[in-house]
Amino acid sequence: MRPCPNCESSRSSLFCLEQNFRVVTCSSCGLTYLQNPPAEQTLYESYYETVPQQMPAELSSIIAQRLAVMKVRSPAGRVLDVGCGPGFFLAEARAAGYDVHGIDVSALAVRFAAESLHLPAEVASLEDVAARDASFDIITLWHVLEHFLNPVAELQKIRKLMAPGAYLYLEVPNLHSIKFRLSGRKWVGGNHPLYHRTFFTKTTLEKTIALAGFQQSERLLLSYRVPGHSGLYSSVKKISNLVAMDAFLTYMIRA
Ligand SMILES: [Zn+2]
Repeated sequence: MRPCPNCESSRSSLFCLEQNFRVVTCSSCGLTYLQNPPAEQTLYESYYETVPQQMPAELSSIIAQRLAVMKVRSPAGRVLDVGCGPGFFLAEARAAGYDVHGIDVSALAVRFAAESLHLPAEVASLEDVAARDASFDIITLWHVLEHFLNPVAELQKIRKLMAPGAYLYLEVPNLHSIKFRLSGRKWVGGNHPLYHRTFFTKTTLEKTIALAGFQQSERLLLSYRVPGHSGLYSSVKKISNLVAMDAFLTYMIRA
């Protein structure tokens, strides 16, 4: 059983037990994390077993809204998408004029990005990228931070890859969301228990960002509008986002 990745305390209380996986909340700092994560070696081989040949409409709408926000602060520049998966975000970012690069742990996803979408994507770690002395104007972590074993350590590596004035955009599922409370472990955003190792709230995510050494971060109230959502649904999302209870937490962070 591992200690809290953020504060190293071994004191915790059980949040939920799924099969043999223990999700606990740290008694010292409040971080909710997977105490006994499975070995990583083969974990992502089947993660992208079925890659949709076309980007799902809902994702397309979400990506357009992310890019609209990015364009305001950084209309151009070098983008590194960490955990790029099959490359749908990268393809849209490239179409929007950015110079893009993607890394992922899944060979299957990277092959799709490289061969089907002709993107500069590769199976690589943050260390691999750092070894090339690269720096980026924008780094994106869309639903990736919750997969890391040690989020602070990975964010510190990312900080070193950021050019002066660069922005990091990150988004994670929100443990305090209404969706999570209503559907619990069935909520796909929770992704219990195999792949997610940290289950962030606004408070614990902001602590994690600060622990990595970032001093300027801003929560973005994106409240994604998605085709097919009613006006009422969108309003509820907007209001729940104001009180940090929407499905996702999105941040823009300065280097
Ligand atoms: Zn802790």
